[in-house]
Formats: sequence, C-alpha cells, structure tokens
Amino acid sequence: MTSSAQLNRDIVVRFAPSPNGLLHLGHAYAAMVARDLARDRGGRFLLRIEDIDGGRSRSEFVAAILEDLRWLGLDWDGPVIFQSERLERYAAAADRLKAKGVLYPCFCSRSDLRQMQEAGPQTPGPDGPVYPGTCRHLAPELARKRALTEPHSWRLDVARAMATTGPLQWMDDRHGLQAGHPERLGDVILVPKEAPVAYHLAVTLDDAGDGITHVVRGDDLFASTHVHRLLQALLDLPTPVYFHHPLLRDETGGKLSKSRKSASLSVLRMAGASGYQLIQDLRQGIFPVGISLS
Ligand code: GLU
Repeated sequence: MTSSAQLNRDIVVRFAPSPNGLLHLGHAYAAMVARDLARDRGGRFLLRIEDIDGGRSRSEFVAAILEDLRWLGLDWDGPVIFQSERLERYAAAADRLKAKGVLYPCFCSRSDLRQMQEAGPQTPGPDGPVYPGTCRHLAPELARKRALTEPHSWRLDVARAMATTGPLQWMDDRHGLQAGHPERLGDVILVPKEAPVAYHLAVTLDDAGDGITHVVRGDDLFASTHVHRLLQALLDLPTPVYFHHPLLRDETGGKLSKSRKSASLSVLRMAGASGYQLIQDLRQGIFPVGISLS
C-alpha cells in the first residue's frame, strides 16, 4: 500500500552549488528552501557539489561551502556528492545523444560569437542573444573532418531534438504547468571545448541518477529547465517536480553575485554572526538592509 506518509518519505531534494566562489545570502536562501521542503515532508536532502569546470572549481570553495552549511545548521543526508567523480556517466550520455543525431560540433570561438553579435541583430534569449546556429549549417562530412583536428564544443540541435520528442510539459509548484520551450535558450552547449561536460547535461543526469523528486532552485534557472525537460525525454529519464523560488536582490534590483563579498556567508560567519539566526530570519522574510526578495 502506498500511504501519503510513504510518499512523503520518498521526497528527495538537493542543493547543488558550484564551487567557483564563496556562497552568498542567496545560496543560504536557496539551501534553506530546499532543505525545509525535504524536512517538512519527511524526505531526504542531498548536497551535490557541481565541480565539473576544472578551470574554475577550487577545493577551498568546496571547504567553505561545507563550513557555511554547517554554520547555517542546514544538515544534509548521506555523503557529499561530487560531479567530478561522474565524468564517465556524462560522456556516455553525450555519446548517446550524438548517436541520435541531436548534437553537432561547433567550432565558433568566443571572438567569433562576439563578432556575430556586433555584426547584426541576434535573437534575444533570457541569458543574452541565442546562438545563431552557424555550425548547424555545416555539411555533415565537413563538420566530421574538422572535428578530427579542430577544437570544438558539442551543441544540442534543439529543433531536431524536439522533432523526435514532440511537445513536452513540466510542472513548477510555484509557476504552474509549463509547456516546454527549450528553443528559448537556443542550441546550448552540452560538451564545452574546455570542460568534460556542461551544466545542462550534468545536472539533468544527476537529478535523475540521485533520485531527485523535487528540484528546488532560483528563478534564474527557470529557462534552463525547458532544456533539461528535453534532455530527459531524449535520454529516457524521469521528470521531477520543479520549484523555482524568487531571488534575493540588492538595492539596485540586481541578483547577488559571488564576486560581491559583502553578502558572502563566510564573511558573516567569520565576523561571528549566528548562522542559525540568519536562517530563522530568512525563513520569516527578514532580510539584511538593502536586500529584498523578488
Ligand atoms: N550549480 C548551479 C549553480 O550553482 C545550480 C544548479 C541547480 O540548482 O540546478 O548555479
């Protein structure tokens, strides 16, 4: 028998920071919302360190994340998960997508992309202009030959992928039922030139692999979820429920950023502030001066 208590025990939520800087108040809020959902419903709360970008991830930031979460009293279940230990899983999935014909090699450099933007109007996307699809139009034989010798990334051919899956939907517990629109972010990179895997592919595989039932994260990643839903369909993965929470913002309405030291948790921790009190305040909607939620 599946009682509601049983269903509640099955809830699995995660906090998945990237160790490329110090956590700030926005991360404390995100971790608190995720953990409260898990704990309130008798579920599990996992900590996954998204350290796939070897160039930007640093062990001292991993150590600071663990210290900050302990200071905040946001305890997690089981061992800390590291994406850097799962590179084979990501490579196997990328191979599967290549075999399906929904990835193409892209030879564009950063300066090529900049020049394209300067040259004329681009399709705007939630995170800036979307990739115009230049390398999608290369003849397959030429692309294959160039890929043997030239550095390249692998992009998702969103239109071709959607043609194989048909219309998609996903549920956001705050924003309601969503029709899938992965085209809004354009042909995103799934395997970068300089890293083994990109965020979109790794996070989708791990949320499925870790049995995450509820993905809790900020509204800044809302557009990404459309891409993740498409990847789930392509890779036969389950679709969790999503909850995209509002973001903490500074006086100018901007998102808090890792480079803004004033909102850093480590600074507060080392200044002797109470992490427990901070979480109590965030939970009640009490924010430090100049910080608001929207
Ligand atoms: N690692 C991502 C970040 O730190 C968040 C991933 C997610 O919650 O999906 O921005």
